[in-house]
Amino acid sequence: MKTLIEGGDIIAYANGGHRLLRAGVLVFDDDRVIFVGKSFTGSVDRRLDASGKLVIPGLVNIHCHADVEAGGRLIADTGRRDYFHTGYLNYFAAKKGVKALGPRQDPDIGGRFALVELLRNGCTTVVEIGVAAEAHARIAGDLGMRAYLSPAYKSTDYCLTDEGQLYYDTNEAAGMAGLERAKVFIATHAGSYDGRIQGMLFPYQVDTCSPSLLRATRKAADELGVGIEIHAGQNLLEFHEILRRHAMTPVEYLADTGLLGPDAIVGHCIISTAHHLAALPAGRDLEILARSGATVAHCPLVFARRGNALESFAKFRRAGVNVGLGTDTYPRDLISEMRWASNLCKIVEHDFTAAAAAEVFTAATLGGAKALRREDLGRLAPGAKADIALIMMRSFRMGPYRDPIKALVQCGTADDVDQVIVDGRTVVEGGHVIGVDEAQLLAEAQVEAERLWGTVPEWHWQGLTAEQLSPQSFPPLTTDLTS
Ligand SMILES: [Zn+2]
Repeated sequence: MKTLIEGGDIIAYANGGHRLLRAGVLVFDDDRVIFVGKSFTGSVDRRLDASGKLVIPGLVNIHCHADVEAGGRLIADTGRRDYFHTGYLNYFAAKKGVKALGPRQDPDIGGRFALVELLRNGCTTVVEIGVAAEAHARIAGDLGMRAYLSPAYKSTDYCLTDEGQLYYDTNEAAGMAGLERAKVFIATHAGSYDGRIQGMLFPYQVDTCSPSLLRATRKAADELGVGIEIHAGQNLLEFHEILRRHAMTPVEYLADTGLLGPDAIVGHCIISTAHHLAALPAGRDLEILARSGATVAHCPLVFARRGNALESFAKFRRAGVNVGLGTDTYPRDLISEMRWASNLCKIVEHDFTAAAAAEVFTAATLGGAKALRREDLGRLAPGAKADIALIMMRSFRMGPYRDPIKALVQCGTADDVDQVIVDGRTVVEGGHVIGVDEAQLLAEAQVEAERLWGTVPEWHWQGLTAEQLSPQSFPPLTTDLTS
């Protein structure tokens, strides 16, 4: 079936980069774009009016976790000082034998909440690093989105002593068993739902995976022809732990174990030899990354909340490192992440020309597609997948604009996404995911998050309640106020 989109500005793709087509026409036939230009003379089956809208390729989100983000939402503005800038250890680490917050989550409600959020926010392709890939494959497949999935695994747990000191508890067999589970998942699910569900390997974090597990991961990725994503360079503790264990930086360690390559994504590489806090002489991390062809998954907001930033988006790009964007945190709004990526880089570089709108938009589309080795995603050109987002541009939020990409990056949010098409099928209309009771889903997510916040005393090393760990911003009003 042929569909023609007309009346809006289109971000088209030609000669290796995006191009602006004013008041253009885009035609797709089933799942593929067949025409982008000024006017189309052939017959079509339906027409979509995009006047007042910007037509962009569906966003490619190369780093997210499908849950209700109860942990991240709990520790905003707070957390342990000795974890430095990192947030997740506050709810990922518990005493040995005690389940921290992560494994207590309901994968079904978390998956439905996060994947619906991502889709209505314009992310047509997501790389989702989680443990509940079976549930998430079904949810993403039924919603009509594209997802790279498998269960993440590790050979080491973060543990706390009775005094709250962090240590690593290693179980090599568990790591290898996890890799085997991921291989089975990929064999079973990769290519399902018309190829929208694909596999990828997720050794969890650089400091929780042994050299042998990383080497086995590389071997499996080569055999299966799938990519790899791992968290590395997330914080100072991890950076120094790898330096202490292996006399290498996390990037050097990933290169040494063979993990890096054009099919590898490193989330998030904040602390590398390019970051001033690493204070390491003779750093070559960016050179190593660039030479390997690996991609950095840049998720600026989650680090900005902890007072840290990549140093810098512009520096990585200048060094030749491919950079894609992700939403490691709440809200899962890749449009806002573009703005964070741009403005944080300008601050870090003291340079208002750094990380321009075009560069961060390219990262959120072509950068992610390159990481996934997909020349049919992140672009609107004949032959590309019909993965498209229509953005409302006539609003006080966008204001008067002459450059729609600068308007989108500086003013836009995910709430401006009006319509989303994946594989030629409309899945979001008027900002709402078709076939989903959003009010019901939001209510279920609230109940689930409150249940998880209620479990804090069961896993917090000092037995604190959620209110003790993270008091409400304002104290409660305890008496009636009368005149
Ligand atoms: Zn992450």
